[in-house]
Amino acid sequence: MSDEIACPECGEDDDLAGTNVEGVITITCGACTHVWERDRERRCPRCETGEMYPVPVAILEKSRGSQLSIMSTRPHYLCWTCDRDLIDAQRQSGTPIMPDELPAEPK
Ligand SMILES: [Zn+2]
Ligand SMILES: [Zn+2]
Repeated sequence: MSDEIACPECGEDDDLAGTNVEGVITITCGACTHVWERDRERRCPRCETGEMYPVPVAILEKSRGSQLSIMSTRPHYLCWTCDRDLIDAQRQSGTPIMPDELPAEPK
């Protein structure tokens, strides 16, 4: 694991094992065996205060020709403060967001 995750219990940032189950990343600390959901710890990397809100994003697959069809969705966390427009639009439409409408993934 390399993207600045640390155990909330003991601070270990190296001996961590992550599992990804349907977009929910669960981290197990090898030092103290604490287990937590990474997404629950999420805070907006841009404004650093915003709460993250999960919206469904379409997973597209090219079908015959150049048509794209929605195969399924995955959760994507947007900032309640920075991405409010996108969140509101998604909640109003009730349909998944297209991947190219999303702001760039934070590093
Ligand atoms: Zn720990
Ligand atoms: Zn934000």
